[in-house]
Amino acid sequence: MAIRQVRAVIRIGIDLGGSKIEGIALSEFGEQLYRKRIATPQGDYKGILKAVADLVTKIEASVGKKGSVGICTPGALSPETNLMRNSNSVCMNGKPVLDDLQDAIDRDIRISNDANCFVLSEATDGAGKDVSTVFGVIIGTGTGAGIVVDKKVIVGQNSIAGEWGHNPLPWPSDMELPGPECYCGKNGCIETWLSGPGIVRDHELHNNAFIDAETLAKKAKFGDEEAIETFERYENRMARSLAHVINILDPDIIVLGGGVGNVKRLYENVPAIWDQYIFSDVVNTKLIEPVHGDSSGVRGAAWLWR
Ligand SMILES: [Zn+2]
Repeated sequence: MAIRQVRAVIRIGIDLGGSKIEGIALSEFGEQLYRKRIATPQGDYKGILKAVADLVTKIEASVGKKGSVGICTPGALSPETNLMRNSNSVCMNGKPVLDDLQDAIDRDIRISNDANCFVLSEATDGAGKDVSTVFGVIIGTGTGAGIVVDKKVIVGQNSIAGEWGHNPLPWPSDMELPGPECYCGKNGCIETWLSGPGIVRDHELHNNAFIDAETLAKKAKFGDEEAIETFERYENRMARSLAHVINILDPDIIVLGGGVGNVKRLYENVPAIWDQYIFSDVVNTKLIEPVHGDSSGVRGAAWLWR
């Protein structure tokens, strides 16, 4: 039986990924008290549960206090069945991960996906600490996003709030139609254009050269004309995609996470383009770099309890 948490003295965050599990303990003021990273047991569901429980025990022994536990993991619990779906640790799919972890750790826990934890971390004591509404985008092999309002994650009726990566690219040109095939079964999803593989494919299409996203960013920085043109197309698509979000949610800030969050030119160039697509005479929305970088998942997990 899970025991209800009455009052947390410390907050423990666990980032449960496909290759590593990271644990952190935060003080009530957000200071990091302890941090540890272990490898994820591969293909072993019971092993994963035990590894998480052991990590929590180790953290609590080290800091000398019990804490609340929040977990950041890709995928989501189905609102219908409460079973995990869409996790890249496929052995967790179809399992009652929340119930099993609550039993293993012997208390109530909270779970959210990596995009939501990223945005919560930045909204709590990062780039959005002084504002109300934060939209956060994580771009890597996919394009995820989440919404935090007044330091609370908006989950939504279907647990998909903020997931605009599988909406179609807005205001497409003839050249952009029907758009690349997406694994979700549709064509021209925002993810197919804005993800890491998306920019690589677009560059290859125009220049017949396969160059990874990180190298493309470096080349653009050092004045390579072809890479600059690729980023100009990318920035225009990102501006259109985020203009849709601004027209609906009108957030105070948008934070960019994942590898693309390090590409400095986006923070100036994207807002310079999005004005023409936003239904307002003034646009005060800011596109901002994350403060916590790679730590946002595990910090956001800890902040799931407030
Ligand atoms: Zn799609």
